[in-house]
Amino acid sequence: MIETELTFTDSQGRLLVVLPSVLSRLLSYRQLNLSSNEAAGVLIGERRGSHLVVHQVSEPGKGDIRRRCFVDRRGPHHQAAVEDAFSRSSGCLQYLGEWHTHPEDIPSPSSTDLNSWKRYLIADEPMVLLIVGRKEIWAAKKCNAKVIPLLKIR
Ligand SMILES: [Zn+2]
Repeated sequence: MIETELTFTDSQGRLLVVLPSVLSRLLSYRQLNLSSNEAAGVLIGERRGSHLVVHQVSEPGKGDIRRRCFVDRRGPHHQAAVEDAFSRSSGCLQYLGEWHTHPEDIPSPSSTDLNSWKRYLIADEPMVLLIVGRKEIWAAKKCNAKVIPLLKIR
């Protein structure tokens, strides 16, 4: 994977752009060796019409529970990052969704992922889901109860 920006689209041409600085943070948490644990955080960015741009992420920290095939984003710093970005940008940068890693090359959501998104990620607007694998990043949007995988275009 090259560290430029990543762009995904849905079937209607609505884009999800992940800025290069975000991508390089995400790639730094890839589970490339046997001892690396799952990592997770929130996605922070802007809604430009129907397009979504991820500007920042929160990263693993104190309070999080991290295992090889499990992560629980419990640290209070994730919510603090959202609030900080929101106030510093006068509301332009907001909570857009979540990311976590998987110890697999081409990641796909586990049944635990799907259940937890269904239960806890409730929003009126589309929310972004990213799973960082060793070779690929899986992206989707959650629109109401539906998880819609996105296609990488560059
Ligand atoms: Zn997962």
